[in-house]
Amino acid sequence: MSNYIFVTGGVISGLGKGIVTSSLSRVLIAKGYKPTIIKIDPYVNIDAGTLRPTEHGEVWVTEDGGETDQDLGHYERFLGFPLTKEHNITTGQVYYEVINRERRGDYLGKTVQLIPHVTDEIKRRIKDVSTKSGADITLIEIGGIVGDYENILFLEAARQLQSEENVTFVHVSYVPIPEKLGEPKTKPTQQSVRLLRELGIFPDFIVCRSPEKLDNVRKEKISLFCNISEENIINNPDLETIYELPLVFEKQEFAKKILNKLNLTENVAKLSEWENKVDILKNTKNKVNIGIVGKYISTGNFELTDSYISVEEAVKHACVALNTKPNIFWVDSTKIEQEISNLDGIIVPGGFGTSGVEGKIKAINFCRENNIPFLGLCLGLQLAVVEFARNVCGLEGAHSTEVNKDTKYPVIDILPEQKNIKELGATMRLGAYSAELKQGTKIYDLYNDFNLIKENKVSERHRHRYELNPDYHKVLQDKGMVFSGISPTKPLVEFIELPANKFFVATQAHPELKSSLLKPSPLFYGFVKSCLK
Ligand code: GLN
Repeated sequence: MSNYIFVTGGVISGLGKGIVTSSLSRVLIAKGYKPTIIKIDPYVNIDAGTLRPTEHGEVWVTEDGGETDQDLGHYERFLGFPLTKEHNITTGQVYYEVINRERRGDYLGKTVQLIPHVTDEIKRRIKDVSTKSGADITLIEIGGIVGDYENILFLEAARQLQSEENVTFVHVSYVPIPEKLGEPKTKPTQQSVRLLRELGIFPDFIVCRSPEKLDNVRKEKISLFCNISEENIINNPDLETIYELPLVFEKQEFAKKILNKLNLTENVAKLSEWENKVDILKNTKNKVNIGIVGKYISTGNFELTDSYISVEEAVKHACVALNTKPNIFWVDSTKIEQEISNLDGIIVPGGFGTSGVEGKIKAINFCRENNIPFLGLCLGLQLAVVEFARNVCGLEGAHSTEVNKDTKYPVIDILPEQKNIKELGATMRLGAYSAELKQGTKIYDLYNDFNLIKENKVSERHRHRYELNPDYHKVLQDKGMVFSGISPTKPLVEFIELPANKFFVATQAHPELKSSLLKPSPLFYGFVKSCLK
């Protein structure tokens, strides 16, 4: 029998189930276990690749080129090791598989039904990940909340799994403190546990998200109404930093209680390195002002910045390693007149489409001319090339053909293999690709300091359709742009830098996708370091 921990959600979405799952996994690692995590997304899309960031947050890219839910990003940042695309299961994948099987005749003679055929396929996928990953405990976060129509088959599969494997259930619920009442209310939690029980699932633990720690009065109430002992009601109050949650859990011996429930042995958690990092995140007095120039999304009257979450976290990881804290300024590329002159450094992250592009180019120009540290990520590299072509090489009107098809100087153009692509799902240049680095460059030295160069090569993750047009390699280099990293298999520029500047570095890749709290990304580290000077 394998060990499974299902994490469900109640009352409202966005409670941070992903952080709960990641934090619990981090403590299990600290106790000598090898956990892995699966995210279940109940939508019908096969993957998150074609979802707009306003719909579902940032798209995370795995080493093997999966375009997944951003929760996999949280998992990797806490776990410190990569996950494959199989770790994100969607309704689309499950139905696609079952329908294909039916067409092949695999179910010949049978009526193909939601139960058992669809639920069997869900269980097969979960067990498959558990076996392939070699994990000793598999945590499965079920997206959405209990009571949604969409996730009901996943909950049913989880219910069935109880009789086949060693399973425990953690329900993450919300205990609001309405401002006018000033008192924590447990009824929504009671109701959501009741809904779960109607589905045959009796949670073993309830993690209570609340502005504050719950007192005994509320714990007693939840315990009484939900049939859970008080000690298995775990506090998850608002915290200054998400990275503190493993420590908050450990204080309540959450992992120990879970291990007991699963009949697994309990070891002392080794969390001192993690503790030190959290201490810096919370207490350092050093500050650095970093601008991230992007497109920001408003929904109704609210602005969300979630679509750059990996960039923001990678900045934090690098800052912690340098004993400082970032003040992040979200600079709207459509309103670049905004003050950027007080910033210590500027990042232009990835992006798609045409809007806000000129504002980003303006910000890059400002960095280059005023010797302000600059880090360009994917689109950020492409626009740094456009800026340099226009203002240094004298190629007036130079552009990326993604933005202007008819530009006289298409310095950024579609990748040759992308030209005939018709379907938009999972067809970009995706996942890990290596680059051969040039010795003596800033980029080489940074990766070298982190011991990440193997046979002159480094690997980073990608998600793009455009590249630096090889026709312009010569003119850009002649004017002083250094190509610090090139693909070993084609003339594709992966890293650039301007050696005359303090720190002007860009990459076609997304190094933010390989940054974790314990292992920051070399480029972010180098960038923050030069911002501090
Ligand atoms: N839109 C650009 C491309 O497709 C950049 C993509 C990105 O920034 N991830 O190449």
